Amino acid sequence: LIDSHAHLHDKAFDADREAVVRRMHGSSVETAVSVGCDLEDSRRAAEVAARYGLYASAGIHPHEAKNAPADIAVAFEPLLETREVVAIGETGLDFYYDFSPRDVQERLLRSQLRLALERSLPLIFHVRDAHERMIEILREEAPSALRGVVHCFTGDAAQARAYVEGFGLFLGIGGVATFKNAQPLRDAIARVGVEPLLLETDCPYLSPNPMRGRRNEPAFMTHTLETVAQILRLERSAVDRVTTNNARALFKL
Ligand SMILES: [Zn+2]
Ligand SMILES: [Zn+2]
Repeated sequence: LIDSHAHLHDKAFDADREAVVRRMHGSSVETAVSVGCDLEDSRRAAEVAARYGLYASAGIHPHEAKNAPADIAVAFEPLLETREVVAIGETGLDFYYDFSPRDVQERLLRSQLRLALERSLPLIFHVRDAHERMIEILREEAPSALRGVVHCFTGDAAQARAYVEGFGLFLGIGGVATFKNAQPLRDAIARVGVEPLLLETDCPYLSPNPMRGRRNEPAFMTHTLETVAQILRLERSAVDRVTTNNARALFKL
């Protein structure tokens, strides 16, 4: 298993990061991508990844779009040269919180899309309450070479198919799939099947049941694996194999 979306550099892990990584290695999760949310956060992600032998991504979360550097290609250049950084993100649209104005979110999304295409890097998308606008922007910006994942996917079956069939994107499935009220998401997973899926924790957030309410960590991802295997009526080992291969292919691990 590969945790395709974690925030292991988050301060929530400052006190016991080493133990968290050890528990990850003691579980069936072999590695993780620690995802950056702004320039400084992406630097920390790369540092932690280097120290613990993990991977990282560099990007500007839509929440942080309003504070982004003027030229992200220049600002991110040194980070993109490091061995640890394997993707651009998280970038996208969050019209639920609207912490940055929507036009600013869109501008940052477009510039990160172009940067990723220029550098032949995959993208990690964060999309909340904004799937329709996201799909419009992808139609405008994205050529066939687009590679990426819609992380923490919580949309419905039609949106899942639009990303997968329309753009060849992966869907990142996290703890939400185990929540009682997430039947539409489970229906969407059943509809697209295992082929386009990645697994993730988004830790320290969104712990899967039965860990819900606790700080999340990569070792807990086995609960999400179990749920996805049940939804798809597959062996856990089959879901493990496909999602691990998907993460390796997407991030070139
Ligand atoms: Zn996110
Ligand atoms: Zn995240």
